[in-house]
Amino acid sequence: MKLEKLTDGILFSHPVEDTDRPILAGICGDDFTLMIDAGNSKSHYQEFETALAENRFPKRNAVVLTHWHWDHIFGAASATGPVIAHRLTREKMMELKDYKWTDEALEERVKAGTEIEFCRTCIATELPSPREVVIRIPEIEVDERLILDLGRTRCLIEHLGSEHAKDHLVVFSEEDRVLFIGDILFVEIYDGEWYWTPRKVERLIDRLLSYPAEWIVASHVYPVQSRAAFEAECSWIRWIGEVVEATGSLEAVRERIATDAPGREEEGMEMASWFIEGLRRENESKVK
Ligand SMILES: [Zn+2]
Repeated sequence: MKLEKLTDGILFSHPVEDTDRPILAGICGDDFTLMIDAGNSKSHYQEFETALAENRFPKRNAVVLTHWHWDHIFGAASATGPVIAHRLTREKMMELKDYKWTDEALEERVKAGTEIEFCRTCIATELPSPREVVIRIPEIEVDERLILDLGRTRCLIEHLGSEHAKDHLVVFSEEDRVLFIGDILFVEIYDGEWYWTPRKVERLIDRLLSYPAEWIVASHVYPVQSRAAFEAECSWIRWIGEVVEATGSLEAVRERIATDAPGREEEGMEMASWFIEGLRRENESKVK
């Protein structure tokens, strides 16, 4: 597996679109490596661990899971060190532990609405049938925060949660000034129409920008973003949210984007539709 160097102490792998493999990252300590996410399969985890060892990262390690989604946790059963996760991630994994992962079982869950087509397809591509999935319950539970002193750097693991996943953690490596945000800045995908809510996204962005990070690493986005690029992305998301809140209709948003951000209509409109759905749900819950 080919790794990229982000700083002297951080290496990471590329995301893979077909199988939804997220970026995995290793933070090198004096005699200990912290890995961000366990990957979507035994081979994903093992390829990454081997590549880190080839790059002389310490073999002693721990893995922190950013959130409970399959692509971040299936590899955990193969981890050679302890696994760290948020309380809610552990709870969710206890639930997943009893699931069957055959094609038939996945099909049933898609029909019942507890699994989504997108994940089913990616699971089948990464792990063709017959597949074995072992869910390992993380040994170390985080509630609000955990600080790991790796010697060379300290890593701050904090629970922020988001609409994408309530259990979501972020990891900040102080010496490297790198913030790992996983999928935190993405929409809710498991509950029907995809959505996010302008004010919640706004608060989340403020929180993410409050870390003195020079690099921001999201799980499925490559290249990794510099602070300036991430800030620009956040402003764009915020702006769409504001336009949606101010106008409330997709047509009005379309006109605003065509005038103020020509060339970005497609991605802008997709994002706007998520915000519209978020506002719709917010209003619905107010009425109740
Ligand atoms: Zn996710």
